[in-house]
Amino acid sequence: MNSNKWDVIVVGAGFAGLKAALELKESGKQVLVLEARDRVGGRCKAGEICGNTIDLGGQWVGPNQHLLLEQARAVQVETYPQYTQGENLLYLNHKLSRYRGDLPRLPILSLLELGLLEQRWKRQIKSLNTHKPWLGKKAQRWDSQSIESWLKSNVFTDATREFVRIITRALLCAEPNQVSYLCLLEYMRQGQGLESLINTRGGAQQDKFVGGAWQIPYRMSQQLNDCIVLNSPVRGITQNDTGVEVSTTEHTYTCQHVIVATPPGLATKIHYAPKLPSQKWGLLQRMPMGAVIKVHVAYEKPFWRSKGLTGAVVSDSHHFNILFDQSPDDESVGLLVGFLDGAHAIEMSAWSEKDRKTQITQDLVDYFGRDAANPIAYVDQDWTQEEWSLGGYVAHMPPGVMSQFGDALREPVGRLHWAGTETAQQWCGYFDGALESGIRAAKEVLQAQQ
Ligand SMILES: Cc1cc2nc3c(=O)[nH]c(=O)nc-3n(C[C@H](O)[C@H](O)[C@H](O)COP(=O)(O)OP(=O)(O)OC[C@H]3O[C@@H](n4cnc5c(N)ncnc54)[C@H](O)[C@@H]3O)c2cc1C
Repeated sequence: MNSNKWDVIVVGAGFAGLKAALELKESGKQVLVLEARDRVGGRCKAGEICGNTIDLGGQWVGPNQHLLLEQARAVQVETYPQYTQGENLLYLNHKLSRYRGDLPRLPILSLLELGLLEQRWKRQIKSLNTHKPWLGKKAQRWDSQSIESWLKSNVFTDATREFVRIITRALLCAEPNQVSYLCLLEYMRQGQGLESLINTRGGAQQDKFVGGAWQIPYRMSQQLNDCIVLNSPVRGITQNDTGVEVSTTEHTYTCQHVIVATPPGLATKIHYAPKLPSQKWGLLQRMPMGAVIKVHVAYEKPFWRSKGLTGAVVSDSHHFNILFDQSPDDESVGLLVGFLDGAHAIEMSAWSEKDRKTQITQDLVDYFGRDAANPIAYVDQDWTQEEWSLGGYVAHMPPGVMSQFGDALREPVGRLHWAGTETAQQWCGYFDGALESGIRAAKEVLQAQQ
């Protein structure tokens, strides 16, 4: 047994764990961060295509994500705007059309219905209890339905239904029949409404980080010096009245409090003694990760720009159905970035990378024409196969989970505290929410140790 005695051990060196550790260190606590992987950052990871550094995980930041912007400034990572000059493409019902701005040009009746739906969502979101959205009669009713079943009885035009399905996949990387309608409402509340979530200008996709978002956790980890131990998956946590023992395969560390800052599914792989309360254990088992493969495709030039296109596409029928321009400012190469999400990600995870590339190139030809037929490079990152993420972007709650198990989401269990973007109260699913959760968990520990 390692005899070191720490004030706090943090499990996981993603944004949440790193932020918690920095807060605690600043308050003079002895902190140790145990990270399963050989790198920090979790769902934020660096990659490379045609000599350009890229983000294989999260990358965008919106103007209302203040904690993330503040953190980026603190480690001197600057932002620059997502390219938006020109028109976007919409592929709906086998028809390709162009539109400006963030809301696709749907058939007139659907557009009217979408406008009404947005107003309705605003009212429903406003009625949610901010800290415990599962409380209240309506919340219980909303939690008893999937997004799909709610859609079938509340939305009547085909294009609006299809648009909501696309949004569900794009936001949660899950199919509308898998997610509680209440979970979607709470996600929209946390992200300050639908427009703030899906928009580029003024929304969560407004800006990117110069050199990549991955630098932020990397630089945060440098401030923690030797407090981080990589390649150290935590296997067991044992607590009693006097402290906690945290064991990896090779060591056992002792401390006063633990912050578990992993995705919910990975927290279930840790052995707890005494066992977690049934409500917490049940919750952790019932929060599956979404499924996503992030794809970068490179061309000699960003040819779509000269056709008056932004490079952004939304489609209801292709595998590669959400994409954006990712080209460097000097246009030395044309880069498109996008996602295979939900069922498409599950299906294509079983394909070879070569077959995925062929299908995706075909999808791009449908959108942009023959210019897209010959990419010069292709990189994809299958998050469903990441042992220490289990998927992405975020875990969701199926029907019935939030109302029965929600109370356990952030509630400490003895000396154990819970962080991670899934426990956020604002911007769940985003870096910003992860930072918020780390700050909250650190505060809880500081109070407990007063
Ligand atoms: C493809 C993709 C695109 C995304 N796009 C965006 C975006 O544009 N903007 C945005 O804000 N967000 C985006 N996100 C979401 C964002 O990446 C996450 O919300 C955020 O990184 C979560 O941080 P976290 O610290 O909560 O969890 P994680 O990043 O998952 O960190 C948890 C850490 O715990 C470690 N761990 C797990 N189990 C153990 C164990 N037993 N012992 C020790 N360590 C363990 C993991 O290895 C990991 O490092 C995206 C995510 C993906 C996958």
